[in-house]
Amino acid sequence: MSETQNEAPAQVVIVGGGVIGLATAWRTLGRGLTVTVIDPFPAGAGAQARADAGAAASAEVGAGQASRVAAGMLPAGNEMMYDNSDLMNLCLASRAFYPSFTAELEADAGLPAGYRRDGLLEIAYGDVDVAVLNRILNFVEPLGVKVEQLTASQCLELEPELAPEVQAGLYAPEDGSVDPRQLTAALVAGIERLGGTVLRASATEVLIDGDRATGVRLADGRVVSGEQIVLAAGCWTNQLKGIPAGVVPEVRPVKGEVLRLRSERPFLRRTIRGLVDGSSVYLVPRADGELVIGATYLDRGYDTTVTAGGLAQLLRRASTLLPGIGDLEFAEFSAGLRPTTVDELPVLGATRVPGLLLATGHSRIGIQLAPISGDIMAQILATGEAPELAASFSPLRFS
Ligand SMILES: Cc1cc2nc3c(=O)[nH]c(=O)nc-3n(C[C@H](O)[C@H](O)[C@H](O)COP(=O)(O)OP(=O)(O)OC[C@H]3O[C@@H](n4cnc5c(N)ncnc54)[C@H](O)[C@@H]3O)c2cc1C
Repeated sequence: MSETQNEAPAQVVIVGGGVIGLATAWRTLGRGLTVTVIDPFPAGAGAQARADAGAAASAEVGAGQASRVAAGMLPAGNEMMYDNSDLMNLCLASRAFYPSFTAELEADAGLPAGYRRDGLLEIAYGDVDVAVLNRILNFVEPLGVKVEQLTASQCLELEPELAPEVQAGLYAPEDGSVDPRQLTAALVAGIERLGGTVLRASATEVLIDGDRATGVRLADGRVVSGEQIVLAAGCWTNQLKGIPAGVVPEVRPVKGEVLRLRSERPFLRRTIRGLVDGSSVYLVPRADGELVIGATYLDRGYDTTVTAGGLAQLLRRASTLLPGIGDLEFAEFSAGLRPTTVDELPVLGATRVPGLLLATGHSRIGIQLAPISGDIMAQILATGEAPELAASFSPLRFS
């Protein structure tokens, strides 16, 4: 017998405490199952917890955790949806679910979830950008998304800090943003209040007995047993040992850099997504005066360095649209790794190994998709049945 004290078993064990693992855990607890989440640095734990963890925070798994860095923009339309109606339906379902998901979470957690439905303004700067706005309008309007076309002066009325050269806008009054740091902190609190466990530890291996997944081994040798094991470890999902070949698809890291500025009062009234000569930039304001500007997109492996070029790119685009941002205080420039599959679609559901499930691959839209992904996973874990909405996102599509 091992000398290492094992952890209490749970019906569901989730490896990864980013927004996807946490949303899955909270929804699953709501269905009455017992849940343990394993993560050395669960999202929402805050920068201090990472700093306290010292060198391990930068060298081990989780440095570059996407959910901590993400801006939390929640647009109805997204270029990833244009060619895939299943992804579009998933995004629309998550969009419709966001208000009740966050209200219920706040009640469970006793903390704000950081959701704002106070409008999203898309701005075009040059002629080519106006054409893109028209494409977005033609795409989202038939889906029942409320959007209004705005002239330059109407845009300036809504957001006085915009550069006067702005050409046109598209305003979606029912869209908005969420603060992923508040959302994940609320999820951790909600999980703990519902009796779930968030174990600050790193998993190294999936344990398989016969043909069935039965638990995970932690870096210190302890074992956490479970009836169902969910891998939600972002771009680290296929680094765990013990999994038969071909069961977990490639989930590669795609780096994104994000700039955070600060002012005493919010610089913007609502989220702005801008196009500057064909390149996009978005700015997400928080109530406390933080302004999040994103994001770069770099396919360079597990690299979390932040670059002068990335900073210059974001500042150039953002200050073309909003010249006044140069006066704001610098707060943070950080990089996260978007968990991205070969077909750039999420992976949600059971694998061919009984008891082993996946919830990852959300790439650029994991904050948008967290409510619906958590709910889909909870349904699968509680009933064994995947909802129709999830059919295209099964891990089995890669086998
Ligand atoms: C710059 C940037 C901006 C973005 N902006 C937006 C946005 O505006 N809107 C939007 O919808 N999406 C956005 N995204 C995408 C979104 O952040 C991701 O899709 C989402 O956060 C993925 O969540 P996750 O839980 O799958 O992964 P992560 O947040 O990366 O979490 C994975 C977790 O697994 C843990 N882990 C890894 N290995 C192990 C192990 N062995 N044992 C235990 N735990 C482990 C890690 O510590 C980590 O906490 C952005 C992403 C980036 C990088």
